[in-house]
Amino acid sequence: MKYKLTNLIDIKQFQRLLESFYVISEIPHGLLDPDGNILSGIGWQNICTKFHRVNTKSALNCKKSDLSIKDKLNFQGIYNMYQCKNGLMEAFIPVIVEGEHIATLILGQFLFSTPDIEYFRKQAQIFDFDENTYLKALSQVPIISKEELNTYMNYFFEVSKILSSLILKGLNQKKNEALLKEHNTNLEKIVVARTAQLTQMNTQIEKKERKLKETIAFDQLRTEFFANLSHEIKTPINLISSVIQLLELEMKSNEISLSSVMDRRLNILKQNSNRLLKLTNNLIDVTKIDCGYLKLNLQNCNIINIIENITLSVADYIKNKNMELLFDTTTEEIITAIDPTMIERIMLNLLSNAVKFTNPGGKIIVNITNSKKEIILSIKDTGIGIPKDQLDLIFNPFRQVNKSLTRSHEGSGMGLSIVKSLVNMHQGTIMAKSKHNKGSEFIITFPIKKLPSIENTSECYPLDYSKNTHIEIINIEFSDIYS
Ligand code: ADP
Repeated sequence: MKYKLTNLIDIKQFQRLLESFYVISEIPHGLLDPDGNILSGIGWQNICTKFHRVNTKSALNCKKSDLSIKDKLNFQGIYNMYQCKNGLMEAFIPVIVEGEHIATLILGQFLFSTPDIEYFRKQAQIFDFDENTYLKALSQVPIISKEELNTYMNYFFEVSKILSSLILKGLNQKKNEALLKEHNTNLEKIVVARTAQLTQMNTQIEKKERKLKETIAFDQLRTEFFANLSHEIKTPINLISSVIQLLELEMKSNEISLSSVMDRRLNILKQNSNRLLKLTNNLIDVTKIDCGYLKLNLQNCNIINIIENITLSVADYIKNKNMELLFDTTTEEIITAIDPTMIERIMLNLLSNAVKFTNPGGKIIVNITNSKKEIILSIKDTGIGIPKDQLDLIFNPFRQVNKSLTRSHEGSGMGLSIVKSLVNMHQGTIMAKSKHNKGSEFIITFPIKKLPSIENTSECYPLDYSKNTHIEIINIEFSDIYS
């Protein structure tokens, strides 16, 4: 057995039990380990303790007798019995736990009848004992009947059962303690490993946080730089544009006509300064949206009227491109809170894209429908279409489907991302549908909601389409389409 029996049961308590029983029975008894060592016992007879077990030769007999128990474990009934090699009787019950012989309850050093004095006199001679004291010790050995022994052994059989279950309990407790200890050691190892891991992770997080802070700071710096740069670029481009316009006006008022070559060159100048203006406007807007600086100037307006006017304002341009423009609406008036300038930005961007990606002979259809709560605006073309896998990506900044150098138009890939942000700022949604080589459709849904504090003004649209300024806006917005 892995554990000592004395560590599994309270041996002192057991000793008290044996002592109490001795008071009643006056028969020596005890508990031995499997090797015959006494763990607990009471009433050992002088004949054994002072003679048999003291003399080397007779003690050898005792040892042999003790060990012979091992060979007598297989027996029928509740106990076994033998006469020891020094002439006394011993009865025993093995204590078995989970099939293993753990201990032996022994009731011994007794006789069933008056001893054969001659035999013991001989013993005294063989082992050189003082005969008188030896025989006196012999006379103290209890003599019991077989019935008495049966009664005692029945009692010890019950004790052995209790002992077995106590030992088993003790064993299980030890096993559990060992398991717990093992678990604790493992747990400690895990805690140590996990702590090391966490420390490493913390260091990594700290590093990443530092990097993130640096990146945010750098991003801020870059955004500010872009905002400044865009403004810096816009001023000279505006100047160039104004000078070109002035030149045109002066030539007109002085009736100066240019040669076709010079006219073409002037047009190239005009278109490219417009393209630069569109680019810088988009850059400024993207930066403003990024920083959250772009704010809507909401007014309650007739959105149908605004969309129709913007669409019609590019009708001539589209006609010149040899395309058909159709406008249809299910209703003439819906008053809702919008920023008209931003609706114009959205419409011109989508219309210019429709022209850009549609071949001459194609159609551009603007259609408005509505429900009680929403306005659904569709800008559809019969152009080249957008591949399915790109449909969700085109709203990301700087994303273009055709990046080849040979494409038939220019662009920066900022338009749709600005459109999406402006639509979202109106609490609307935008989605694209397309079939390759059949055309594309952009569907915008705006919620219908009015500002309570401001009076409804269906004529709130700030831009006058007859004015040159508006034509300039269209020219800028459509500048990346080759004429
Ligand atoms: P860009 O300045 O390049 O036009 P946009 O953000 O306006 O940038 O559009 C992003 C990309 O989406 C375009 O480059 C084009 O590939 C695709 N796209 C947008 N509108 C259409 C359309 N009506 N037909 C086909 N492709 C389109």
